[in-house]
Amino acid sequence: MTRSFSKAPSKEIRAQVGVQIESDFSSRLVGYLRENGYKIQAGDTTIKLAAEFGFCYGVDRAIEYAFAARHRFPNRRIWLTGEIIHNPGVNERLREMKIDFLPNTDDKNVRYADLAKDDVILIPAFGADSEEMTFFLNEGYEIVDTTCGSVLNVWKRVRKYANEGFTALVHGKYDHEETIATVSQVCAESPDGHYLVVLDLDEARDLAAMIVSGDWSDFDRKFPAHARSKDFDPARDLMRIGVANQTTMLESESREIGEIVRAAIAERYGAGETESHFLSFDTICSATEDRQRAVKELLSDGVDRMIVIGGYNSSNTGHLLELSSAVIPAYHIVDAGCLITADRIIAKPNGREPVEMTDWLPEGPQVIGVTGGASTPDSIVGLVIERILQLRGVPLPSLD
Ligand code: SF4
Repeated sequence: MTRSFSKAPSKEIRAQVGVQIESDFSSRLVGYLRENGYKIQAGDTTIKLAAEFGFCYGVDRAIEYAFAARHRFPNRRIWLTGEIIHNPGVNERLREMKIDFLPNTDDKNVRYADLAKDDVILIPAFGADSEEMTFFLNEGYEIVDTTCGSVLNVWKRVRKYANEGFTALVHGKYDHEETIATVSQVCAESPDGHYLVVLDLDEARDLAAMIVSGDWSDFDRKFPAHARSKDFDPARDLMRIGVANQTTMLESESREIGEIVRAAIAERYGAGETESHFLSFDTICSATEDRQRAVKELLSDGVDRMIVIGGYNSSNTGHLLELSSAVIPAYHIVDAGCLITADRIIAKPNGREPVEMTDWLPEGPQVIGVTGGASTPDSIVGLVIERILQLRGVPLPSLD
């Protein structure tokens, strides 16, 4: 596909929108914490902030491009193909700026019904489905593409697999925008290209057992149509496998899945043949790795409970919760509004819908860890910390 997109915003526009972005999403308290060892003490409450949290380089860029697009095209309608990032507050801010969202439906007649030739298409940081991109390009829309460079790296990898006759085995969530866009690259690259999406270690172990035994009778039940390419024949399409991953998965799990599949291939074809049947490339992005590492450091540094802030549909935030809740009580919240009282909290347990919980903030000395996913603005993190201190009945220390 020939890519023809709107150019990057000029230095002048970036400077102008930078002021607006700073005012919308920064926090004086978080700035203070960054400059003072990521720790604040008030009475018997200690707040420890992860050394890496919040907006990543890809999100910074996506937001800058979105604000710049509004600035550059003040009188044109701008459409996002989906959430720009997984944070409800940020998406709401874009709506306030009159950036609209294409209807979320597979029915193209409905999805494109209100598009006019002069409209601007804004592609989120996750990227967009290859077929849809081709449509926008062919129709000549102005396209502002905020697809993160780390996502483009995954695309490059799976296209390479398709070209070399390897099926892309993607560790990811089949219904996540990034994975939808990634697997679309496989079929766009080669008519014979195939992919299979594997969610977790259990699925990888099931798959490995089938590879070793050559018994595919349970394959369709374990890996339904939405997780694989069309006309997928496991006996044919799993002879040569290239592993990649959604950029925001749990790093340790991705590595283990690669090892499980590699071992199965070695057992099936012989260790000497592994290289001609198996390729692997770690495509977890560095921002995800940094945030996961920082949470592990915080956990080993001694915290009593963890508050993890981010959109409920944010994959990388969910994994920060997963790491934390394996060790201490941990709560995934969207914003300060979830901290109802010192006893009541609305939080999302792993793999479940958000619920109201109790006893989340006990009395007595407490060390509370705080982190935020890659799509969480400092402004929200700052308000959460202020709310925790308020519920603990201690004043915010002077920031001067
Ligand atoms: S989490 Fe990683 S892949 Fe996603 S936008 Fe941020 S840097 Fe890019």
